[in-house]
Amino acid sequence: MKEIDAALNDNSAVRKATRQAEKAEERFTKARLAMRKEEQEVQAQQQKIAKNQEALYGGSVRNPKELEDLQMESEALKRYLSTLEDRQLDAMILYDDAKSAKELADIDLANVKKEVAAQFGDLSAEQTSLTADVQRLETERSATAAEVEPDLLATYDKIRKNRFGQAVAAVKDGSCAACGAVLSAALAQSARLPSKITHCDTCGRILIG
Ligand SMILES: [Zn+2]
Repeated sequence: MKEIDAALNDNSAVRKATRQAEKAEERFTKARLAMRKEEQEVQAQQQKIAKNQEALYGGSVRNPKELEDLQMESEALKRYLSTLEDRQLDAMILYDDAKSAKELADIDLANVKKEVAAQFGDLSAEQTSLTADVQRLETERSATAAEVEPDLLATYDKIRKNRFGQAVAAVKDGSCAACGAVLSAALAQSARLPSKITHCDTCGRILIG
C-alpha cells in the first residue's frame, strides 16, 4: 500500500513529457513568427520592385539618366529580393521542422498521460482491494483476540511489537524458525504442549512445536 501511494503521487513521467511539449511549442511559435517576418519582407520588397517597374516602364520618366538610375535600382532590388526569398525558404524549413517536432511531442505527451492513467487505474483498483483485505483481516483479528486471555494477549502484542510484527514461531528441525536458534530438546518438547506457553530463549517468540 505504501508503494502504491508513492506511485500515485509521482507523476515525473508526465512532468517530463509536458516540459518537452512546452519547449516544442515555444520553438514552433518562434519559427512561425520568424517565417511571417520573412514573408512580410519579401512582400515589401515586391512592392518596391512594382513601384520601380511602374516608374521605369510607365512612361512618366523620360530623362535617360533617371531611367538609367531606375534600371540600376531595379537590378539591385531584384538581387535583394532573391536574398530575401532564400531567407524565407530557410525560415519555412525551420518552421516545418518545428511543426513536426511539436506534433511528435504532443503525441508523446498524450501517450504518457494515457499510460499513467491506465497504470493509476490499476493501482487504484489494487489499493481498494488491499484496503478491503486490511479491513477484513482486522475484523478477523479482533474476533480472535477477544477469545484470548488478556494477559496472554498482552504478552503476544508485546513480543509482536518488539519482533517486527511476528510474535509466534514454529519449531523446525529443532530450531526456532524465526530466529534460527537451535533449541534444547526440553524446549522443543515443551513447545509441543498445547497447555503451555513456551518462548524461544533467544528471540523470545512463542514457540509452536
Ligand atoms: Zn527464536
